[in-house]
Amino acid sequence: MNEGIVISDITKSYGKTKALDGVCFSVEEGELFGLIGPDGAGKSTLFKILATLLLPDSGYASMTGLDVVKDYRKLRTEIGYMPEKFSLYQDLTVKENLEFFASLFGVSVKTNFDLIAPIYKQLEQFPNRLAGNLSGGMKQKLALSCALIHRPKVLLLDEPTTGVDAVSRSEFWDMLSNLRKHGITILVSTSYMDEAKLCERIAMINNGHILAVNSPEKLADSIEETLYNASANDMFRLLTELRKTQGVKECYTFGATLHIVAEKDFSSESTIQLLQKKGLKDVKIYPAYATIEDLFIKLMQNDRQ
Ligand code: ADP
Repeated sequence: MNEGIVISDITKSYGKTKALDGVCFSVEEGELFGLIGPDGAGKSTLFKILATLLLPDSGYASMTGLDVVKDYRKLRTEIGYMPEKFSLYQDLTVKENLEFFASLFGVSVKTNFDLIAPIYKQLEQFPNRLAGNLSGGMKQKLALSCALIHRPKVLLLDEPTTGVDAVSRSEFWDMLSNLRKHGITILVSTSYMDEAKLCERIAMINNGHILAVNSPEKLADSIEETLYNASANDMFRLLTELRKTQGVKECYTFGATLHIVAEKDFSSESTIQLLQKKGLKDVKIYPAYATIEDLFIKLMQNDRQ
């Protein structure tokens, strides 16, 4: 029996919208697993089903060997869930929120404090501040502390870093890797591709179905095409011109540059000359490493066809 998370052929529709369409993957016990996908991909719907707050239309899911439908009561005591939207009581203080969540599970804050100590440390200076008056990063730390206070075996974190500043995002991921030492199975969703590489394995989701599951390194390595970075003085024109250029299979915006997916007959030198002749300046084209984001773009395009 898998003591982590098993998701088998889960389907869920809201009226005509198919939010989940035969989702399958599993997470090993103690694994830090990421669910990566754009807005509307179905991440929150899957989390709500796992958190026993929503029934699937069909399919099966279990965590710690317990069925999310049949064993929902027992399961609720074994999981910690941090929903996408801030779920704490804004008009309770930091301390009161923590005590409230502990009491819901019949535990004392003291008993499990060791688990949350590294996270809660940063909130300890203002135990009497109302949760509603905390900064985004602090709210996130309090929500994580509350989700952990009953020492769950599985932690479900739905887009915990959305809308949080870069420093708090990075601190949050440090906290997650620390939690792994306690053997907690963690499923975390994000739409930030750069966070994918912080997970042991990830599942890419789009339009309610899973595009790929593997370690971030293996997924990035699975791109066989040759990629190039491209930049010039007029990036929009560069994109338009490259998309019409011989040997360019795909071209898309990638951070501050463009990524070119090259055909076999692509030549960076002749492409640079051609673009210069067309009036573009400061044209640079040089080899790029494939990333998870490149794979995601490729798989999403295949998915549309
Ligand atoms: P994500 O968390 O990846 O942004 P969601 O699970 O929230 O994705 O949404 C998946 C799809 O289901 C979207 O098309 C969304 O508009 C739709 N959806 C989500 N919740 C509801 C709802 N309560 N009623 C109708 N449609 C919904």
